[in-house]
Amino acid sequence: MTTKAKTSTFVYSFKDGDGKNKKLLGGKGANLCEMTQIGINVPPGFVISTEACLNYLDTKNQDLPPELIDQVHEQIRQLEHDTNKGFGDPENMLLLSVRSGSALSMPGMMDTILNLGLNSTTLPGLIKQTGNERFAWDAYRRFIQLFGKVALGIADEKFDKPFDAIKKREGVTEDTDLTADHYREISDIFLDVVHGETGKPFPEDVYQQLELSIKAVFGSWLGKRAIDYRREFKITADMANGTAVNVQIMVFGNMGNDCATGVGFTRNPATGDNVMFGEYLINAQGEDVVAGIRTPKPVHELSHDMPQMHAELTALSNRLEEHYREVQDYEYTIENNVLYCLQTRDGKMNATARVRTSLEMANEGLITRNRALLRINPVELDQLLHPCLDPESKKMPVAHGLPASPGAASGKIVFDADRAEMARDEGVKVILVREETKPEDIHGFFASEGVLTSRGGKTSHAAVVARSMGKPCIAGAEGIEVDVEKQIARVGNTVLHEGDVITIDGANGNVYLDEIDTVAPKFSNELQTLLSWADEISELKIMCNADTLDAATKASDFGAMGIGLCRTERMFNSQDRLPLVIDMILAKDINERQEALDKLRPIQRGDFKDLFKIMSPRPVTIRLLDPPIHEFLPSEKQLEQEIDHLTRLRDTVCGVNDLMNSMQLLKRKADVKSMPKPFGPGGRELVESAIAKKQQMLIKVRELFEVNPMLGHRGVRLGITYPEIYEMQVRAILEAAAECSKEGFDVCPEIMVPQVCTSKELLWVRKIVDQVHADIEAKYEMKLAFKFGSMIEVVRAYMRAGRLAEIAEFFSFGTNDLTQSTFSFSREDAENKFLPLYEENNILQDNPFETLDVKGVGSLMEIAVDWGRKTNPELKVGICGEQGGHPESIRFCHHIGLTYVSCSAPRVPIARLAAAQAKLTEEEYSQKIMTHLSS
Ligand code: ADP
Ligand code: MG
Ligand code: MG
Repeated sequence: MTTKAKTSTFVYSFKDGDGKNKKLLGGKGANLCEMTQIGINVPPGFVISTEACLNYLDTKNQDLPPELIDQVHEQIRQLEHDTNKGFGDPENMLLLSVRSGSALSMPGMMDTILNLGLNSTTLPGLIKQTGNERFAWDAYRRFIQLFGKVALGIADEKFDKPFDAIKKREGVTEDTDLTADHYREISDIFLDVVHGETGKPFPEDVYQQLELSIKAVFGSWLGKRAIDYRREFKITADMANGTAVNVQIMVFGNMGNDCATGVGFTRNPATGDNVMFGEYLINAQGEDVVAGIRTPKPVHELSHDMPQMHAELTALSNRLEEHYREVQDYEYTIENNVLYCLQTRDGKMNATARVRTSLEMANEGLITRNRALLRINPVELDQLLHPCLDPESKKMPVAHGLPASPGAASGKIVFDADRAEMARDEGVKVILVREETKPEDIHGFFASEGVLTSRGGKTSHAAVVARSMGKPCIAGAEGIEVDVEKQIARVGNTVLHEGDVITIDGANGNVYLDEIDTVAPKFSNELQTLLSWADEISELKIMCNADTLDAATKASDFGAMGIGLCRTERMFNSQDRLPLVIDMILAKDINERQEALDKLRPIQRGDFKDLFKIMSPRPVTIRLLDPPIHEFLPSEKQLEQEIDHLTRLRDTVCGVNDLMNSMQLLKRKADVKSMPKPFGPGGRELVESAIAKKQQMLIKVRELFEVNPMLGHRGVRLGITYPEIYEMQVRAILEAAAECSKEGFDVCPEIMVPQVCTSKELLWVRKIVDQVHADIEAKYEMKLAFKFGSMIEVVRAYMRAGRLAEIAEFFSFGTNDLTQSTFSFSREDAENKFLPLYEENNILQDNPFETLDVKGVGSLMEIAVDWGRKTNPELKVGICGEQGGHPESIRFCHHIGLTYVSCSAPRVPIARLAAAQAKLTEEEYSQKIMTHLSS
């Protein structure tokens, strides 16, 4: 510990504080200094630094350090000198405001004390000086109230109650209807409140008032409200530590009709429109605008009310934006036709406004293109890419789940995927509601507007699939109890049936009953231009994960530079293919299997051709079959149940036939013919064959049972045990490529093998590929270029990257599986059982399935890039795990020199912006990552 120098500076005049040092002076204080120094009319004052705050909180001493008090007194003397007034001087008093402000704005954390310096001796002076008794008493009661609340910790309602009682007694609703006498009465009551609550009279000594206020502001930094806020918004000590205190001369917007107060934006924060925006009130004090006591007027009306002031305000607004080169959000007060600026800060705005202002400020030359890109948080773009609920709607949500995939949708409830498909075919919009979803529900996703599950986390099956399709999804809405068997859902006391309408908002996880209008997204020209600037800067390419023409088209519109991951199994799940896939699985021998595969091949070929064409000439990376094949079959339990039902149905059918026979004994032939036939001929055989099929499936399901399927018979292991499956897929890919080429499309197919852990596996598949390739070239009489590569998702593959790069021309990091195996966490279990607790207690800072774990998983990736490129400097390396669309992960991927990231279509624009930002901030990031990795 160093001994504290006697002469530490704790207090800075606005005239010489460093406007760039927000950490020391707080955001508000730094900007007050900066504005003062560039000649903007700011009421004079000084800042007590955040360091002074920490110092005070550290000493555990109830008193402010004497050196701080000395410095404050020195500053007050300076203010007295500059204004020719005296602090506590009844003849010509100086009144102050005491305002808090830390490095980051923490809205509503701390109240401001106004009119400090009033007491029973200065008040008559104020009345005399202003000749306005009502104003003076109002100022006094405000001071007692704010001081009582902030510095003495008296609850709001102790003041509000008697205040409202007087308004009621007088029959007035507006504060403006109260007279000087009322305010005098209120002030007296407030003084009594203070005495009653604290056991002491209201402090008369103005220096004591000031010291108590400073201490209260300092103390608020460790108040519960502030601590909770910092936790909620992840504000760490290196972002903001301690609060500054700003002490400033009061100016009054409530001394008459040549006074006003207002707040403004240099541009419209809702649309980005380049016009001054804001509201003001004539003859009012600052908080009145926000408090909603009176309805403020839009700023353009100021040009009628006070033309000169309007002109000055316009000049101020322009000056601020020119200086800060950013949209500013400012506060001002007009006192007797003099305009004062009380605060400025960077304006918060919605995504539309942010994009538009970025583009326009760059085009105006106010900021560089780089700055235009950097000032947008990529995640915000999400708002622009999905439909959202009509902001005018006042409906209250009935349940809440995890916001798993953004966007809003309304529709009729269905409880299973088949019903969803039927409804869609009838042109009905539906929301698929389930406890959780499985791969076999995939057709239900296609048919639905959105998906709602009562279980599962943000990376549950439902969430992942919905995100990849860009459909809204809420997962784990525990307030909803889904009973699929009975086809109902319960929300509190309400029972929902199929066909009832609900609305979900996947951006915040809210579920509503009935329909709420949605507002369609638009991929504006402004955003397109901005992203084209981004592409010029980025080194990373942005590919998409897309398995369908729909998704690929959307991704292409969003500027995807190719498909980084096409999961072929997604193509197996639709209704017209699944029976063939099941035949393939049930095949008793290779001949039977080949027969099924021969039927599947043209279908897959057709799918691939669609993708090649839409992406031409960009690359399309197709992953060979990955999941364990039992995922295409129903569960054992379901099959048993169905067989049971079918057996009973068979008995019924037999019974019906027996009935017919009996009839023949009772009636003559001609009459029998005209009798109704509940079941047609062949019914029994039909049921029998259904039972046989289901029994065959059941046997297979039992045979395929695995204790741990994700670590079992899947990926390349499947391809090696059933080479004919991979052979069929490779043939379909290369045939599609050949046919597209013949049709004049430039194609760039890439074949990718999943789950590889040793080079021998890769060589095995490569051999199949080479044979098929030779076949196809001969058959189509053409040369056909393609790339062969490997998913790198098994830990061993990372360790063997050098060797694998001898065979693979590209790597694609599968960080979903890799994260599971690196942590030895099964994703679903982790997210449902212990991850939330880990995050809460800071054992893990983020969910590694959402945010790439840079320290562990990231290190493996870095090694694989290094070793792979040592073997093959040309090696193309990308990431296709879910994290690939996350801006933080993208920065890391850029840092370790990946070639591309691949993400779902709706994340493509976000990733394009993030990739440019990664390039623009690469040096900073390298520094940051080094300290991060060593911590
Ligand atoms: P917040 O951080 O909550 O915005 P401020 O410190 O900006 O708090 O104070 C709230 C309001 O109090 C301001 O908007 C302004 O209207 C009023 N105010 C603060 N300081 C002064 C002052 N020196 N003169 C007049 N009004 C002031
Ligand atoms: Mg403010
Ligand atoms: Mg995988």
